[in-house]
Amino acid sequence: MTHWPSIVVATPAHSGVGALLSYRSESALAPGTLVRVPLGAREVLGIVWADETAPPEGLAPEQARDVAAVLDGLAPLNGRWRQLVQFAARYYQRSLGEVALAALPPTLRDLDNTQLARRLKRQAKAAAIGAAPASAADTAPPPSDEQAAALAALAGADRPALLFGATGSGKTEVYLRATERALAADPAAQVLVMVPEINLTPQLEARFRARFEPRHGEGVVVAMHSGMTPPQRLAAWLAAHSGSARIVLGTRLAVFASLPGLRLIVVDEEHDPSYKSQDGARYSARDLAVYRAKLESEALAAAGPDAETSPASAPAGAAGCQVVLGSATPSLESWHAAEQGRYLRLAMPARIGGGALPRLRLVDMNHQPKGATLAPPLLAAMQERIARGEQCLVLLNRRGYAPVLACDACAWKSQCPHCSAFRVFHKLDRTLRCHHCGFTSRVPRACPDCGNLDIAPIGRGTEQIEEQLAGLLVDARRPDGGPARVARMDADTTRLKGSLEAQLAALHSGEVDVLVGTQMIAKGHDFRRITLVASLNADAALFASDYRAPERLFALLMQAGGRAGRDARHSGVSEMWVQTWHPEHPLFAALKTHDYPAFAAEQLAEREMAGMPPHGYQALLRADARTQAAAQAFLNGAAQQAAGLPHRDDVTLYPAVPLTIQRVANVERAQLLVEAASRAALQRFLSAWQPVLLACRTLPEARGLVRFAVDVDPLAI
Ligand code: ADP
Ligand code: ZN
Ligand code: ZN
Repeated sequence: MTHWPSIVVATPAHSGVGALLSYRSESALAPGTLVRVPLGAREVLGIVWADETAPPEGLAPEQARDVAAVLDGLAPLNGRWRQLVQFAARYYQRSLGEVALAALPPTLRDLDNTQLARRLKRQAKAAAIGAAPASAADTAPPPSDEQAAALAALAGADRPALLFGATGSGKTEVYLRATERALAADPAAQVLVMVPEINLTPQLEARFRARFEPRHGEGVVVAMHSGMTPPQRLAAWLAAHSGSARIVLGTRLAVFASLPGLRLIVVDEEHDPSYKSQDGARYSARDLAVYRAKLESEALAAAGPDAETSPASAPAGAAGCQVVLGSATPSLESWHAAEQGRYLRLAMPARIGGGALPRLRLVDMNHQPKGATLAPPLLAAMQERIARGEQCLVLLNRRGYAPVLACDACAWKSQCPHCSAFRVFHKLDRTLRCHHCGFTSRVPRACPDCGNLDIAPIGRGTEQIEEQLAGLLVDARRPDGGPARVARMDADTTRLKGSLEAQLAALHSGEVDVLVGTQMIAKGHDFRRITLVASLNADAALFASDYRAPERLFALLMQAGGRAGRDARHSGVSEMWVQTWHPEHPLFAALKTHDYPAFAAEQLAEREMAGMPPHGYQALLRADARTQAAAQAFLNGAAQQAAGLPHRDDVTLYPAVPLTIQRVANVERAQLLVEAASRAALQRFLSAWQPVLLACRTLPEARGLVRFAVDVDPLAI
């Protein structure tokens, strides 16, 4: 009998074409089956979404094309996975085809069944060989009382858990033990552990491997992040999909991994903005993780203990698949959910070993020598640390040597010709580089406008601080009499493969006394000999127009401070120095007492008054165009034509405005804010609005529109 499966293929987000296309097949194809189908002149990867025994209305049987190949060596993607991508596509206003196909490794398309069978066999064999009986000694330390209590509460949790644990309280150990428990409960169980950034994966991966490989074999942990090569991504995906990998450790894209045995999801540093994708489907991997756990749990409950899983997989009290969100400074969304009882809060306020959190030292820059980049008392404190053989971290959120180069004699500045931004001066290779579009040129010998030879850097970046510190600390001596060693770590020094690991290793082994870097050094790393952390330019965030800036600054400073005094032997002396022109700012009062709950309460009260998230819901309509007028015309046109739409009265549409950096790579950018009192109302309106947006692309005054996108639950407005 002829079948007419509808198949999902990759379609651009706003093509207006449904992602589901009908094909012809001589055999029945189960939903979730991967296939190759002709599309125009190409052959593309597709996913069977539904099987039909009659051709769809309007499709003449002779026009239908045949499914070209079926990847039947692979189990179909299960119903929960399909529900997840379907939900993500709908919620984030993208096409199903875009979301579903982006979630698969692209090289899957090039595999035939023979290759596939060979690969899967090899992976299964590797897993079997590796699975030696527990040979290595288990290195797990006995859990602290707080860890034990958190794990006990988690075992019975019927809701998402928010692990609110101070930096160094041993959250990772809780993840490891929860993982161990999930794996032990069911031989097919799988665990997904997410971290915000690639540079945090090596250390965590090492800890998970050390813990689980001795007992479960070499293939038990796989990584998934955007830094992997296509063959590596394919191998990891297949290992997860086939179940040979039991633990997947990855960045936000891992939330879409096919994990048929998923029983636990961990989202570490859940407040981190990196979990929100900034292009394509602008999904929040944290929010999807919570949704995914719910889907998995519902499916397990519906299936009952007999179907698909063994009874052992349903531990008493705990429903199916758990999700743990961990942070020392949770997002206000998650904190609010815990306050309301929607999430279960597990608190671990104490550091392992009883160490104290670093003492906050505010440096009032109003009382420092004019033009000083580093206040003298801070320098003195650093010298003391160096003399004792301890390490310092210096944080500055700006890489390069100086953010602007300017002429003394005329108005010339290192403006990027393609963006409304300055090109950054990089001294090492004497270039001017635009951090927005990448445009790079040699530093001119003289002013391009007036020929003046005096062109000078304005402001400071990490490269300059590194240089200055080397000079300022020239007299500092280590306990062995050697000079202080200053190093820098940022996106520029870690570009080459392996360089990040090498730099971290140098710091761990004590080859560096002072490390200068961007926020990359503030996150997650378990450094042992750091007793002083300094933040040089926190002020910008205090008065930023973005209402989330204080939340982000508080998290960054807590997290950076968390790098200090992790070894209890040093903890009594560890300090967090913050240079500021506004020491009286209330944020610092909460920071001084490490009082996140107080800070969160104050911020949530402000948000409630203003109807801001989590007390209100937002979406942005963004437009890129050749001219700012065209971008705004599209947005304002879309707003006007929303009149009369169903649910229009449930939302507020604000006038279009240019983005802070309004032009990037010769494209003008603008956005329009949509607000609603409830998530459901916002969703209903956005769905109704979608056809209007498509129609407005052809408005005469929007000529020159390049693209538009909807950002649901945006992080920066
Ligand atoms: P967090 O992720 O909360 O910042 P970690 O999980 O990295 O903290 O733990 C901090 C340090 O304490 C790590 O070096 C870890 O090995 C150690 N640690 C964690 N739990 C224990 C424990 N129960 N006993 C001894 N050491 C522990
Ligand atoms: Zn000039
Ligand atoms: Zn540029």
